[in-house]
Parts: sequence; C-alpha cells; structure tokens
Amino acid sequence: MSAQIISGTEIARQIRQELSQEIAELKERHHLTPGLATLLMGDDPASQIYVNQKGKISQSLGIYSERYDLPATTSEEELLTLIDQLNGNSRIHGILVQLPLPQHINETSVLCAIDPEKDVDGFHPMNLGKLMLGNPAYLPCTPCGIQQLLIRSGIKVEGAEVVIVGRSNIVGKPMANILLQKNPWANATVTVCHSLSRDISVHTRRADILIVAIGKPKTITADMVKEGVVVIDVGVNRIGKTATGKSIVVGDVDFDTVKLKARAITPVPGGVGPMTITMLMANTITAAKRTAGLS
Ligand code: NAP
Repeated sequence: MSAQIISGTEIARQIRQELSQEIAELKERHHLTPGLATLLMGDDPASQIYVNQKGKISQSLGIYSERYDLPATTSEEELLTLIDQLNGNSRIHGILVQLPLPQHINETSVLCAIDPEKDVDGFHPMNLGKLMLGNPAYLPCTPCGIQQLLIRSGIKVEGAEVVIVGRSNIVGKPMANILLQKNPWANATVTVCHSLSRDISVHTRRADILIVAIGKPKTITADMVKEGVVVIDVGVNRIGKTATGKSIVVGDVDFDTVKLKARAITPVPGGVGPMTITMLMANTITAAKRTAGLS
C-alpha cells in the first residue's frame, strides 16, 4: 500500500492564506489588528527557534507582535507583573508564554495568571474546562492542528477507533477531549495510552487513527499497527547532526516501515509542527474578534 503523506506544511500554508485574508478584512472593515505577545525566558535553543518562527509567521500574516526575551533569572513575581500588564494592554489579544519555564517558576501559576480571553495557547484551566464541557473558546494549538489535518485530508473521525499514545496536558489529554466531543468532526471512540499502559501494541493494533505524542524516537514500529491505519506523529526528536551541522529530527513513529502499512501518515518534520504555529495564529485572530464582539 502506498500511504497518503499528510503534508502539514501544505495544509498550514493553505490555512495561513485564509488567515491572512481574514486579517486584511478585519483591518479594513473593523480597524482591528490582532496582537500577539510572546514571552521567552532563558536561552533554550529549541524554545528560541519556536519563538522566532512564531514571530516571523505572525508578522507575515499582519499580526501585531511584541516579543519579550527575559533572562532565566527573572523572578516569578516579575514574570507575573509583565503578564498582568499584557492582560491590560488593549493592543495585545493573545499572550503566549513559551514552555518549558525554568525550574524556579511555577508553570501552573503563570498559566493561570493569563487572562483566559488572551489565552491563545488554550492552557488556562478555564479554557481546558470549557473544552471538556464541549464549549471551547480556544483549543490547545497542537491537538487543534491535528484535528484540522484530519478534516482537511478527508479522514473521517466519526465512529473511528482513535488511539492516542501519550497523556500530556498539552497534547494527549486535550486531543482525547477534542475527538470525544459530540460533533461531526469528532464523535470518535478514544483510547489513551501512557508509559504505564500494560501493552500498548494491543491498543495501537486496533487503531483506525493512531496519534503518537511520547517524545521517544521511532517507538511505534510496523508490527504495532494494522493495515490501513492513519498515523499522526507528533514527536520531535533530535537524534544527531548531519555533516553540515543541521539537526536530524525524527518522530515517535518509524516512518519508513509504518508508511508501508498505513493509509495515510504525517512526516516529521513537515507534519504536525507547522500546524501548531498556524493554530496559534488562528486563536489570536479569534481572541481579537472576541474582544471586538465579532465572534
Ligand atoms: P510529555 O509531556 O513528555 O509526555 C509524554 C507522554 O508520553 C507521557 O504521557 C508519557 O507517559 C508517555 N510516554 C512516554 N514514553 C512512553 C512509552 N514508551 N509508551 C507509552 N507512553 C509513553 O510530552 P509532550 O509534551 O506531549 O510531547 C510529546 C512529543 O511531541 C515530544 O517529542 C514533543 O517535542 C512533541 N511535540 C510536538 C509538537 C509539535 O507541534 N510538533 C507540539 C508538542 C509536542 P506518562 O504520563 O506515564 O509519563
């Protein structure tokens, strides 16, 4: 079987085109420019790359952006003060605090300090609660991007056996909640596995749609999936460098062998990653529209 390669790069490009048009209309008709603030603490190279990408894409779409690079020694009080100022800043509709934060900062306190209306990452307990109740304001970006990948690739989720490997608060748990909802883009039967699941292959072999977010390179192998499965690989694992010094990145799925059995599969890179950033932009637009009473 020759698997359909689900290109997140291409689907994200299409969505960004739509977003860029929507922003132009908001500016023209409503004099409204969506604004995003990104906060980066410390000098973690991967976080810097993510924040750079977010800044570049928001500017290319016409989103007003402010970036705050804070030293790793910034105190929690200083960080909370900045968030409080941004909560009150009318040019800023979305606030993104790049995770992970240094050890001395309480992540929960920081995420709870963001005004839920500006919580474009969708990690505030109020927004996660609304998601669980089926009335979301903002969906967390990675699972939201995965749902869009499925919809726009014509993959029917309704009634499907979906198996999610990984139960993190940012991917696995919200993903399960999104696909459990009672709506035509969800309505799945969802199983969630984690590191203490007895034998994950018992579950992964049943999956019509398998979503893997564990952060362990090439863990899902061909013998763990059934013929015709749809595979979404969230993992980003840097396993070395090329001769020219570029990072070699692989997913949590052994792409080369699993694609021979799959009906459709996302590559790494170029699968879920571009969708995550794009959904952040979409949430920022939603936040701006909500402020203006347009959504
Ligand atoms: P995380 O917080 O480390 O959570 C990993 C989850 O996987 C945990 O629930 C853990 O179980 C489970 N797990 C680990 N090893 C396992 C195994 N062998 N079998 C079954 N379950 C296992 O990770 P995360 O933040 O969700 O990220 C996961 C991966 O996705 C990482 O590579 C990350 O870089 C990537 N990611 C990519 C994007 C993107 O936009 N492309 C976005 C977010 C994350 P326990 O709960 O029992 O510990």
